[in-house]
Amino acid sequence: MSFLKEIERRRTFGVIAHPDAGKTTLTEKLLLFGGAIQEAGAVKNNKIKKGATSDFMEIERQRGISVATSVLAFNYKNKKINILDTPGHKDFAEDTFRTLTAVDSVIVVIDVAKGVEEQTEKLVEVCRMRSIPMIIFINKLDREGRDAFELMDEVEQKLQLKVTPMSFPIGMGYDFKGIYNIWEKNINLFSDDSKKNIEDTISIKDIQTDELDKVVGAKAANTLREELELVEAIYPEFDREAYLKSELQPVFFGSALNNFGVREMLDAFIEIAPSPRPKESDTRLVAPSENEFSGFVFKIHANMDPKHRDRLAFIKIVSGVFERNKPYLHVRQGKKLKFSSPNAFFAEKKEIIDISYPGDIVGLHDTGNFKIGDTLTEGEIMIFKGIPNFSPEHFRYINNADPMKSKQLEKGVDQLMDEGVAQLFTLEMNGRKVIGTVGALQYEVIQYRLEHEYGAKCTYENFPAYKACWVKPEDPKNEEFKEFKRIKQKFLAKDKSGQLVFLADSDFSIQMTQSKFPTVKLRFTSEEI
Ligand code: GDP
Repeated sequence: MSFLKEIERRRTFGVIAHPDAGKTTLTEKLLLFGGAIQEAGAVKNNKIKKGATSDFMEIERQRGISVATSVLAFNYKNKKINILDTPGHKDFAEDTFRTLTAVDSVIVVIDVAKGVEEQTEKLVEVCRMRSIPMIIFINKLDREGRDAFELMDEVEQKLQLKVTPMSFPIGMGYDFKGIYNIWEKNINLFSDDSKKNIEDTISIKDIQTDELDKVVGAKAANTLREELELVEAIYPEFDREAYLKSELQPVFFGSALNNFGVREMLDAFIEIAPSPRPKESDTRLVAPSENEFSGFVFKIHANMDPKHRDRLAFIKIVSGVFERNKPYLHVRQGKKLKFSSPNAFFAEKKEIIDISYPGDIVGLHDTGNFKIGDTLTEGEIMIFKGIPNFSPEHFRYINNADPMKSKQLEKGVDQLMDEGVAQLFTLEMNGRKVIGTVGALQYEVIQYRLEHEYGAKCTYENFPAYKACWVKPEDPKNEEFKEFKRIKQKFLAKDKSGQLVFLADSDFSIQMTQSKFPTVKLRFTSEEI
Protein backbone atom coordinates (compact mmCIF):
# COMPACT_ATOMS: atom_id res chain seq x y z
CA MET A 1 0.00 0.00 0.00
CA SER A 2 1.32 3.45 -0.83
CA PHE A 3 2.49 5.84 1.87
CA LEU A 4 -0.40 8.26 1.22
CA LYS A 5 -2.97 5.45 1.41
CA GLU A 6 -1.49 4.32 4.72
CA ILE A 7 -1.99 7.83 6.10
CA GLU A 8 -5.48 8.16 4.69
CA ARG A 9 -6.69 4.94 6.29
CA ARG A 10 -5.61 5.89 9.81
CA ARG A 11 -7.98 7.18 12.47
CA THR A 12 -6.34 8.12 15.75
CA PHE A 13 -8.75 9.25 18.42
CA GLY A 14 -9.61 9.32 22.11
CA VAL A 15 -12.82 8.53 23.95
CA ILE A 16 -13.53 11.10 26.64
CA ALA A 17 -16.15 10.98 29.36
CA HIS A 18 -16.94 11.67 32.96
CA PRO A 19 -16.25 8.50 35.00
CA ASP A 20 -19.04 5.93 34.68
CA ALA A 21 -20.57 7.33 31.51
CA GLY A 22 -19.49 4.18 29.66
CA LYS A 23 -16.11 4.92 28.08
CA THR A 24 -14.63 1.49 28.85
CA THR A 25 -17.75 -0.35 27.72
CA LEU A 26 -17.89 1.58 24.47
CA THR A 27 -14.17 1.06 23.80
CA GLU A 28 -14.64 -2.64 24.29
CA LYS A 29 -17.53 -2.78 21.85
CA LEU A 30 -15.51 -0.89 19.26
CA LEU A 31 -12.75 -3.47 19.67
CA LEU A 32 -15.22 -6.30 19.18
CA PHE A 33 -16.14 -4.89 15.78
CA GLY A 34 -12.50 -4.85 14.82
CA GLY A 35 -12.20 -8.49 15.82
CA ALA A 36 -9.38 -7.31 18.07
CA ILE A 37 -10.91 -9.08 21.04
CA GLN A 38 -13.20 -12.06 21.09
CA GLU A 39 -15.31 -11.43 24.11
CA ALA A 40 -16.60 -8.79 26.45
CA GLY A 41 -14.59 -8.07 29.58
CA ALA A 42 -11.26 -8.04 27.77
CA VAL A 43 -10.66 -4.33 28.13
CA LYS A 44 -9.46 -3.52 31.59
CA ASN A 45 -11.04 -0.58 33.26
CA ASN A 46 -8.23 1.60 34.49
CA LYS A 47 -10.48 3.49 36.81
CA ILE A 48 -9.07 4.35 40.20
CA LYS A 49 -11.72 3.03 42.49
CA LYS A 50 -13.04 5.01 45.39
CA GLY A 51 -11.04 4.33 48.51
CA ALA A 52 -8.00 3.29 46.51
CA THR A 53 -6.14 6.37 47.68
CA SER A 54 -4.25 4.59 50.39
CA ASP A 55 -3.99 1.24 48.70
CA PHE A 56 -0.61 1.25 47.01
CA MET A 57 -0.98 -2.16 45.48
CA GLU A 58 -4.14 -0.96 43.85
CA ILE A 59 -2.35 2.07 42.43
CA GLU A 60 0.40 -0.17 41.10
CA ARG A 61 -2.12 -2.52 39.58
CA GLN A 62 -3.88 0.38 37.94
CA ARG A 63 -0.63 1.66 36.51
CA GLY A 64 -0.04 -1.73 34.97
CA ILE A 65 -3.45 -1.74 33.41
CA SER A 66 -3.04 1.70 32.02
CA VAL A 67 0.07 0.61 30.08
CA ALA A 68 -1.93 -2.23 28.59
CA THR A 69 -4.75 0.06 27.57
CA SER A 70 -2.69 3.12 26.62
CA VAL A 71 -3.15 2.45 22.91
CA LEU A 72 -5.64 0.03 21.43
CA ALA A 73 -5.18 -0.48 17.73
CA PHE A 74 -7.28 -2.56 15.34
CA ASN A 75 -8.34 -2.77 11.74
CA TYR A 76 -11.94 -2.26 10.70
CA LYS A 77 -13.18 -2.09 7.10
CA ASN A 78 -9.63 -1.48 5.94
CA LYS A 79 -9.13 1.44 8.30
CA LYS A 80 -6.38 1.33 10.91
CA ILE A 81 -7.93 2.56 14.14
CA ASN A 82 -5.83 3.77 17.08
CA ILE A 83 -7.75 4.47 20.28
CA LEU A 84 -5.72 6.41 22.84
CA ASP A 85 -6.72 5.89 26.43
CA THR A 86 -7.75 8.94 28.42
CA PRO A 87 -8.23 8.43 32.17
CA GLY A 88 -11.52 9.88 33.38
CA HIS A 89 -10.47 10.23 37.02
CA LYS A 90 -9.94 13.88 37.75
CA ASP A 91 -6.64 13.32 39.54
CA PHE A 92 -5.26 12.13 36.21
CA ALA A 93 -6.80 14.89 34.13
CA GLU A 94 -3.38 16.18 33.05
CA ASP A 95 -2.59 12.83 31.52
CA THR A 96 -5.78 13.11 29.52
CA PHE A 97 -5.05 16.70 28.45
CA ARG A 98 -1.66 15.61 27.16
CA THR A 99 -3.10 12.63 25.32
CA LEU A 100 -5.49 15.03 23.61
CA THR A 101 -2.46 16.61 21.89
CA ALA A 102 -1.92 13.28 20.12
CA VAL A 103 -5.45 12.55 18.86
CA ASP A 104 -6.93 13.66 15.57
CA SER A 105 -10.50 13.51 16.82
CA VAL A 106 -12.53 12.44 19.86
CA ILE A 107 -15.74 10.65 20.79
CA VAL A 108 -17.48 12.18 23.80
CA VAL A 109 -19.63 9.76 25.83
CA ILE A 110 -22.54 11.24 27.78
CA ASP A 111 -24.85 9.39 30.15
CA VAL A 112 -28.46 9.88 29.01
CA ALA A 113 -29.69 10.29 32.59
CA LYS A 114 -26.87 12.39 33.99
CA GLY A 115 -26.28 14.62 30.99
CA VAL A 116 -23.21 16.83 30.82
CA GLU A 117 -20.99 16.25 33.86
CA GLU A 118 -18.01 18.10 35.26
CA GLN A 119 -15.15 16.17 33.64
CA THR A 120 -16.92 16.22 30.29
CA GLU A 121 -17.06 19.98 30.50
CA LYS A 122 -13.35 20.35 31.25
CA LEU A 123 -12.20 17.91 28.58
CA VAL A 124 -14.50 19.22 25.88
CA GLU A 125 -13.29 22.74 26.59
CA VAL A 126 -9.74 21.67 25.77
CA CYS A 127 -10.92 19.95 22.56
CA ARG A 128 -12.90 23.01 21.57
CA MET A 129 -9.95 25.34 22.12
CA ARG A 130 -7.80 23.07 19.98
CA SER A 131 -10.52 22.67 17.31
CA ILE A 132 -10.47 18.88 17.62
CA PRO A 133 -13.40 17.31 15.72
CA MET A 134 -15.86 15.71 18.15
CA ILE A 135 -18.57 13.07 17.83
CA ILE A 136 -21.04 12.77 20.70
CA PHE A 137 -22.38 9.41 21.83
CA ILE A 138 -25.34 9.57 24.20
CA ASN A 139 -25.21 6.31 26.11
CA LYS A 140 -27.46 4.06 28.24
CA LEU A 141 -30.63 4.53 26.19
CA ASP A 142 -31.88 1.24 27.65
CA ARG A 143 -32.38 3.14 30.91
CA GLU A 144 -34.80 5.88 31.77
CA GLY A 145 -33.11 9.08 30.79
CA ARG A 146 -33.73 12.60 29.72
CA ASP A 147 -35.51 13.80 26.63
CA ALA A 148 -33.26 13.79 23.56
CA PHE A 149 -33.96 17.42 22.64
CA GLU A 150 -33.39 18.60 26.18
CA LEU A 151 -30.07 16.76 26.29
CA MET A 152 -28.91 18.20 23.00
CA ASP A 153 -29.81 21.66 24.32
CA GLU A 154 -27.74 21.04 27.39
CA VAL A 155 -24.80 19.86 25.28
CA GLU A 156 -24.99 23.01 23.17
CA GLN A 157 -25.23 25.32 26.13
CA LYS A 158 -22.94 23.80 28.71
CA LEU A 159 -20.30 22.69 26.23
CA GLN A 160 -20.73 25.60 23.83
CA LEU A 161 -21.10 23.32 20.85
CA LYS A 162 -23.33 23.17 17.81
CA VAL A 163 -24.84 19.75 17.35
CA THR A 164 -26.80 17.79 14.79
CA PRO A 165 -28.26 14.34 15.48
CA MET A 166 -27.19 11.57 13.10
CA SER A 167 -29.45 9.04 14.76
CA PHE A 168 -32.55 9.37 16.88
CA PRO A 169 -33.97 7.18 19.67
CA ILE A 170 -37.41 5.63 19.35
CA GLY A 171 -38.63 5.72 22.93
CA MET A 172 -36.38 5.35 25.91
CA GLY A 173 -35.79 3.20 28.97
CA TYR A 174 -38.65 0.72 29.38
CA ASP A 175 -40.19 1.88 26.09
CA PHE A 176 -36.95 1.92 24.16
CA LYS A 177 -37.70 0.42 20.75
CA GLY A 178 -34.65 1.19 18.74
CA ILE A 179 -32.82 3.82 16.82
CA TYR A 180 -33.60 5.54 13.58
CA ASN A 181 -30.40 6.15 11.71
CA ILE A 182 -30.72 9.54 10.03
CA TRP A 183 -27.37 9.02 8.32
CA GLU A 184 -28.22 5.64 6.75
CA LYS A 185 -32.04 6.02 6.76
CA ASN A 186 -32.77 2.75 8.48
CA ILE A 187 -34.01 1.42 11.77
CA ASN A 188 -32.20 -0.81 14.18
CA LEU A 189 -34.63 -2.50 16.53
CA PHE A 190 -33.56 -2.96 20.10
CA SER A 191 -33.50 -6.25 21.90
CA ASP A 192 -31.56 -6.49 25.09
CA ASP A 193 -29.86 -9.64 23.99
CA SER A 194 -26.40 -8.38 23.20
CA LYS A 195 -25.62 -11.48 21.16
CA LYS A 196 -28.18 -10.60 18.54
CA ASN A 197 -27.03 -10.12 14.99
CA ILE A 198 -25.46 -6.70 14.92
CA GLU A 199 -26.23 -6.19 11.23
CA ASP A 200 -29.90 -6.67 11.86
CA THR A 201 -31.24 -3.39 10.49
CA ILE A 202 -34.47 -2.62 8.72
CA SER A 203 -34.25 -0.22 5.86
CA ILE A 204 -37.04 2.38 5.81
CA LYS A 205 -37.00 4.40 2.63
CA ASP A 206 -39.82 6.70 3.54
CA ILE A 207 -40.83 7.21 7.14
CA GLN A 208 -44.19 8.63 6.03
CA THR A 209 -45.43 5.24 4.81
CA ASP A 210 -47.04 2.70 7.16
CA GLU A 211 -43.93 0.60 6.81
CA LEU A 212 -42.73 2.46 9.90
CA ASP A 213 -45.96 1.77 11.84
CA LYS A 214 -45.58 -1.91 11.16
CA VAL A 215 -42.11 -1.97 12.59
CA VAL A 216 -42.46 0.11 15.75
CA GLY A 217 -46.23 0.49 16.24
CA ALA A 218 -48.44 3.43 15.31
CA LYS A 219 -47.89 5.51 18.43
CA ALA A 220 -44.09 5.35 18.38
CA ALA A 221 -44.14 5.87 14.60
CA ASN A 222 -46.10 9.10 14.93
CA THR A 223 -43.91 10.40 17.69
CA LEU A 224 -40.82 9.61 15.63
CA ARG A 225 -42.24 11.42 12.59
CA GLU A 226 -42.95 14.51 14.69
CA GLU A 227 -39.57 14.40 16.31
CA LEU A 228 -37.75 13.99 13.02
CA GLU A 229 -39.66 16.96 11.65
CA LEU A 230 -38.49 18.96 14.61
CA VAL A 231 -34.93 17.73 14.10
CA GLU A 232 -35.07 18.91 10.52
CA ALA A 233 -36.41 22.29 11.55
CA ILE A 234 -33.97 22.93 14.39
CA TYR A 235 -30.69 21.33 13.46
CA PRO A 236 -28.45 21.97 10.47
CA GLU A 237 -27.74 19.21 8.01
CA PHE A 238 -24.52 17.36 8.71
CA ASP A 239 -21.62 19.11 7.04
CA ARG A 240 -18.31 17.27 7.13
CA GLU A 241 -16.21 20.40 6.62
CA ALA A 242 -17.87 22.05 9.62
CA TYR A 243 -17.31 18.90 11.69
CA LEU A 244 -13.64 18.76 10.72
CA LYS A 245 -13.23 22.40 11.77
CA SER A 246 -14.92 21.52 15.08
CA GLU A 247 -17.79 23.86 14.27
CA LEU A 248 -20.46 21.13 14.21
CA GLN A 249 -20.73 18.00 16.34
CA PRO A 250 -22.74 14.99 15.15
CA VAL A 251 -24.69 13.17 17.87
CA PHE A 252 -25.41 9.43 18.06
CA PHE A 253 -27.64 7.62 20.53
CA GLY A 254 -27.20 4.09 21.79
CA SER A 255 -26.38 1.68 24.53
CA ALA A 256 -22.78 0.58 24.75
CA LEU A 257 -23.56 -2.20 27.19
CA ASN A 258 -26.06 -3.74 24.76
CA ASN A 259 -23.83 -3.02 21.79
CA PHE A 260 -26.62 -0.97 20.39
CA GLY A 261 -26.08 1.99 18.07
CA VAL A 262 -22.35 1.38 18.27
CA ARG A 263 -21.86 -0.07 14.80
CA GLU A 264 -23.80 2.85 13.30
CA MET A 265 -21.52 5.30 15.01
CA LEU A 266 -18.37 3.39 14.09
CA ASP A 267 -19.41 3.21 10.43
CA ALA A 268 -20.07 6.92 10.33
CA PHE A 269 -16.90 7.59 12.29
CA ILE A 270 -14.59 5.86 9.80
CA GLU A 271 -16.24 7.79 6.95
CA ILE A 272 -16.19 11.25 8.48
CA ALA A 273 -13.41 11.33 11.10
CA PRO A 274 -10.15 12.87 9.96
CA SER A 275 -7.02 10.95 9.04
CA PRO A 276 -3.87 12.29 10.74
CA ARG A 277 -3.85 16.07 10.70
CA PRO A 278 -0.92 18.46 10.17
CA LYS A 279 0.72 19.73 13.35
CA GLU A 280 2.18 23.11 14.20
CA SER A 281 5.82 23.25 15.33
CA ASP A 282 7.67 26.32 16.55
CA THR A 283 8.95 26.93 13.02
CA ARG A 284 6.25 25.65 10.63
CA LEU A 285 3.22 23.48 9.98
CA VAL A 286 4.24 19.85 9.43
CA ALA A 287 2.09 17.72 7.10
CA PRO A 288 1.78 13.95 7.60
CA SER A 289 2.61 13.33 3.94
CA GLU A 290 6.10 14.82 4.23
CA ASN A 291 8.86 12.33 3.52
CA GLU A 292 10.94 12.98 6.60
CA PHE A 293 9.92 11.43 9.88
CA SER A 294 8.89 13.61 12.83
CA GLY A 295 7.02 12.88 16.05
CA PHE A 296 6.66 13.89 19.67
CA VAL A 297 6.41 12.33 23.13
CA PHE A 298 2.99 12.72 24.75
CA LYS A 299 3.21 10.14 27.48
CA ILE A 300 5.89 8.34 29.46
CA HIS A 301 5.23 5.23 31.43
CA ALA A 302 7.53 3.71 34.00
CA ASN A 303 8.23 0.03 33.74
CA MET A 304 6.21 -2.07 36.11
CA ASP A 305 8.97 -4.63 36.46
CA PRO A 306 11.34 -3.51 39.23
CA LYS A 307 14.18 -5.46 37.57
CA HIS A 308 13.98 -3.23 34.52
CA ARG A 309 14.26 0.41 35.29
CA ASP A 310 13.53 1.55 31.77
CA ARG A 311 10.49 3.49 30.76
CA LEU A 312 8.28 3.51 27.73
CA ALA A 313 7.97 6.81 25.89
CA PHE A 314 4.89 7.04 23.68
CA ILE A 315 5.53 8.87 20.41
CA LYS A 316 2.84 10.10 18.04
CA ILE A 317 4.14 10.01 14.50
CA VAL A 318 3.36 13.32 12.82
CA SER A 319 5.06 12.90 9.43
CA GLY A 320 7.07 10.44 7.35
CA VAL A 321 7.81 6.85 8.22
CA PHE A 322 9.32 5.73 11.49
CA GLU A 323 11.89 2.95 11.03
CA ARG A 324 13.50 0.63 13.49
CA ASN A 325 17.27 1.14 14.03
CA LYS A 326 17.40 4.40 12.10
CA PRO A 327 19.07 7.29 13.96
CA TYR A 328 16.71 10.16 14.82
CA LEU A 329 17.48 13.55 16.29
CA HIS A 330 16.33 14.17 19.84
CA VAL A 331 15.93 17.90 19.29
CA ARG A 332 16.07 19.11 22.92
CA GLN A 333 19.22 17.13 23.67
CA GLY A 334 20.76 17.70 20.25
CA LYS A 335 21.79 14.07 19.88
CA LYS A 336 20.91 11.17 17.63
CA LEU A 337 19.27 8.08 19.04
CA LYS A 338 18.47 4.68 17.52
CA PHE A 339 15.74 2.36 18.70
CA SER A 340 16.24 -1.35 18.31
CA SER A 341 12.92 -2.52 19.71
CA PRO A 342 10.14 0.02 19.12
CA ASN A 343 6.73 -1.27 20.17
CA ALA A 344 3.48 -1.04 18.33
CA PHE A 345 0.22 -1.70 20.13
CA PHE A 346 -2.54 -4.00 19.00
CA ALA A 347 -5.54 -4.25 21.27
CA GLU A 348 -4.02 -5.72 24.37
CA LYS A 349 -0.62 -6.82 23.19
CA LYS A 350 2.42 -4.93 22.10
CA GLU A 351 4.90 -6.13 19.54
CA ILE A 352 8.14 -4.97 18.00
CA ILE A 353 7.68 -3.26 14.66
CA ASP A 354 10.02 -2.28 11.83
CA ILE A 355 7.99 0.55 10.41
CA SER A 356 5.14 2.86 11.44
CA TYR A 357 3.11 5.56 9.76
CA PRO A 358 1.73 9.00 10.66
CA GLY A 359 -1.11 8.69 13.15
CA ASP A 360 0.43 5.62 14.75
CA ILE A 361 1.83 5.51 18.24
CA VAL A 362 5.15 3.80 18.91
CA GLY A 363 6.48 2.98 22.35
CA LEU A 364 10.22 3.56 22.72
CA HIS A 365 12.29 2.08 25.54
CA ASP A 366 13.97 4.92 27.36
CA THR A 367 16.47 5.11 30.18
CA GLY A 368 15.83 8.74 31.03
CA ASN A 369 16.38 10.67 27.79
CA PHE A 370 12.82 11.71 27.20
CA LYS A 371 10.39 14.03 28.79
CA ILE A 372 6.88 14.89 27.77
CA GLY A 373 6.77 17.22 24.80
CA ASP A 374 10.13 16.13 23.32
CA THR A 375 10.37 16.12 19.54
CA LEU A 376 12.17 13.58 17.32
CA THR A 377 13.09 14.37 13.69
CA GLU A 378 15.44 13.19 10.96
CA GLY A 379 17.63 16.23 11.63
CA GLU A 380 15.41 19.29 11.39
CA ILE A 381 15.53 21.56 14.41
CA MET A 382 11.94 22.18 15.48
CA ILE A 383 9.75 21.52 18.46
CA PHE A 384 6.08 20.56 18.29
CA LYS A 385 3.90 22.96 20.20
CA GLY A 386 0.91 22.43 22.37
CA ILE A 387 1.83 20.37 25.41
CA PRO A 388 1.45 22.95 28.14
CA ASN A 389 1.52 22.39 31.85
CA PHE A 390 -1.70 23.30 33.59
CA SER A 391 -1.77 24.91 36.99
CA PRO A 392 -1.78 22.27 39.71
CA GLU A 393 -4.47 22.40 42.38
CA HIS A 394 -2.46 21.02 45.31
CA PHE A 395 0.93 22.19 46.56
CA ARG A 396 3.27 20.65 49.11
CA TYR A 397 6.89 21.11 50.13
CA ILE A 398 8.88 17.95 49.58
CA ASN A 399 11.50 17.12 52.22
CA ASN A 400 14.22 14.52 52.16
CA ALA A 401 13.59 12.00 54.92
CA ASP A 402 16.87 10.10 54.49
CA PRO A 403 19.99 12.32 54.30
CA MET A 404 22.06 9.42 52.92
CA LYS A 405 19.81 9.19 49.87
CA SER A 406 19.60 12.78 48.64
CA LYS A 407 21.04 11.92 45.19
CA GLN A 408 18.45 9.17 44.74
CA LEU A 409 15.68 11.53 45.78
CA GLU A 410 16.81 14.17 43.33
CA LYS A 411 17.03 11.68 40.48
CA GLY A 412 13.67 10.14 41.34
CA VAL A 413 11.89 13.48 41.55
CA ASP A 414 13.53 14.58 38.32
CA GLN A 415 12.40 11.50 36.42
CA LEU A 416 8.90 11.43 37.85
CA MET A 417 8.45 15.07 36.82
CA ASP A 418 9.66 14.20 33.28
CA GLU A 419 6.98 11.53 33.19
CA GLY A 420 4.49 14.25 34.00
CA VAL A 421 3.31 12.74 37.29
CA ALA A 422 3.46 16.18 38.93
CA GLN A 423 5.21 19.53 38.61
CA LEU A 424 8.22 20.77 40.53
CA PHE A 425 8.65 24.40 41.58
CA THR A 426 11.84 25.72 43.18
CA LEU A 427 11.26 28.74 45.39
CA GLU A 428 13.33 31.76 44.38
CA MET A 429 13.89 32.87 47.95
CA ASN A 430 15.38 29.78 49.55
CA GLY A 431 15.64 27.04 46.93
CA ARG A 432 13.07 24.83 48.67
CA LYS A 433 11.17 22.46 46.45
CA VAL A 434 7.40 22.42 46.10
CA ILE A 435 5.48 19.71 44.28
CA GLY A 436 2.25 20.66 42.58
CA THR A 437 -0.33 18.07 41.52
CA VAL A 438 -3.79 17.94 40.04
CA GLY A 439 -5.06 15.49 42.68
CA ALA A 440 -4.05 14.45 46.16
CA LEU A 441 -3.59 10.86 44.97
CA GLN A 442 -0.37 11.78 43.18
CA TYR A 443 1.47 12.52 46.45
CA GLU A 444 1.04 8.94 47.54
CA VAL A 445 2.04 7.64 44.13
CA ILE A 446 5.21 9.78 44.21
CA GLN A 447 6.14 8.76 47.75
CA TYR A 448 5.60 5.10 46.97
CA ARG A 449 7.49 5.16 43.71
CA LEU A 450 10.41 7.14 45.13
CA GLU A 451 10.83 4.49 47.76
CA HIS A 452 10.33 1.43 45.57
CA GLU A 453 12.01 2.57 42.38
CA TYR A 454 14.73 4.92 43.63
CA GLY A 455 15.28 3.87 47.24
CA ALA A 456 14.55 7.39 48.49
CA LYS A 457 12.26 8.57 51.25
CA CYS A 458 10.34 11.81 51.40
CA THR A 459 7.90 13.66 53.60
CA TYR A 460 5.56 16.48 52.69
CA GLU A 461 4.58 19.72 54.32
CA ASN A 462 1.71 21.92 53.28
CA PHE A 463 2.46 24.88 51.12
CA PRO A 464 -0.33 27.44 51.15
CA ALA A 465 -0.77 27.99 47.44
CA TYR A 466 -3.97 27.88 45.46
CA LYS A 467 -2.82 28.21 41.85
CA ALA A 468 0.39 28.46 39.89
CA CYS A 469 0.43 31.43 37.52
CA TRP A 470 3.09 31.59 34.85
CA VAL A 471 4.42 35.14 34.83
CA LYS A 472 4.69 36.92 31.47
CA PRO A 473 5.88 40.51 31.88
CA GLU A 474 5.21 42.78 28.90
CA ASP A 475 8.56 44.36 29.58
CA PRO A 476 10.95 42.43 31.82
CA LYS A 477 13.01 45.56 32.32
CA ASN A 478 10.34 47.96 33.54
CA GLU A 479 9.95 49.20 37.10
CA GLU A 480 6.57 47.57 37.49
CA PHE A 481 8.04 44.10 36.98
CA LYS A 482 10.87 44.83 39.41
CA GLU A 483 8.37 46.00 41.98
CA PHE A 484 6.24 42.88 41.39
CA LYS A 485 9.27 40.66 41.99
CA ARG A 486 10.20 42.55 45.14
CA ILE A 487 6.75 42.44 46.71
CA LYS A 488 5.95 38.86 45.72
CA GLN A 489 9.38 37.33 46.28
CA LYS A 490 8.11 34.88 48.89
CA PHE A 491 5.67 33.43 46.34
CA LEU A 492 7.90 33.28 43.29
CA ALA A 493 9.40 30.08 41.99
CA LYS A 494 10.90 28.58 38.84
CA ASP A 495 9.28 25.62 37.14
CA LYS A 496 11.37 22.78 35.75
CA SER A 497 12.05 24.57 32.50
CA GLY A 498 13.16 27.72 34.31
CA GLN A 499 10.01 29.77 33.72
CA LEU A 500 8.96 32.19 36.44
CA VAL A 501 5.84 31.19 38.35
CA PHE A 502 3.78 33.09 40.92
CA LEU A 503 2.30 30.70 43.50
CA ALA A 504 -0.81 32.61 44.50
CA ASP A 505 -2.64 31.77 47.72
CA SER A 506 -6.11 32.81 46.59
CA ASP A 507 -8.21 33.98 43.71
CA PHE A 508 -8.43 37.33 45.44
CA SER A 509 -4.66 37.65 45.52
CA ILE A 510 -4.48 36.89 41.78
CA GLN A 511 -7.00 39.60 41.02
CA MET A 512 -5.30 42.14 43.30
CA THR A 513 -1.92 41.38 41.79
CA GLN A 514 -3.27 41.66 38.28
CA SER A 515 -4.86 45.05 38.92
CA LYS A 516 -1.79 46.38 40.70
CA PHE A 517 0.63 45.14 38.04
CA PRO A 518 -1.33 45.24 34.80
CA THR A 519 1.73 44.79 32.56
CA VAL A 520 2.71 41.59 34.34
CA LYS A 521 0.46 38.98 32.76
CA LEU A 522 -0.47 35.89 34.75
CA ARG A 523 -1.44 32.67 32.99
CA PHE A 524 -2.74 29.34 34.31
CA THR A 525 -0.87 27.35 31.67
CA SER A 526 2.84 27.28 30.87
CA GLU A 527 2.16 28.05 27.24
CA GLU A 528 -0.82 29.21 25.25
CA ILE A 529 -3.14 26.37 24.22
P1 GDP B 1 -16.32 4.53 32.31
O1 GDP B 1 -16.02 4.93 33.72
O2 GDP B 1 -16.79 5.72 31.52
O3 GDP B 1 -15.25 3.75 31.63
O4 GDP B 1 -17.64 3.61 32.40
P2 GDP B 1 -17.83 2.04 32.26
O5 GDP B 1 -17.73 1.64 30.83
O6 GDP B 1 -17.00 1.35 33.24
O7 GDP B 1 -19.37 1.95 32.65
C1 GDP B 1 -19.86 2.33 33.91
C2 GDP B 1 -21.06 1.49 34.29
O8 GDP B 1 -22.14 1.76 33.40
C3 GDP B 1 -20.80 -0.01 34.19
O9 GDP B 1 -21.46 -0.63 35.25
C4 GDP B 1 -21.41 -0.39 32.86
O10 GDP B 1 -21.84 -1.73 32.83
C5 GDP B 1 -22.59 0.57 32.78
N1 GDP B 1 -22.99 0.85 31.40
C6 GDP B 1 -22.20 1.19 30.35
N2 GDP B 1 -22.95 1.34 29.23
C7 GDP B 1 -24.22 1.10 29.58
C8 GDP B 1 -25.46 1.08 28.85
O11 GDP B 1 -25.54 1.31 27.65
N3 GDP B 1 -26.58 0.79 29.57
C9 GDP B 1 -26.55 0.51 30.90
N4 GDP B 1 -27.70 0.23 31.50
N5 GDP B 1 -25.43 0.50 31.61
C10 GDP B 1 -24.26 0.80 30.96
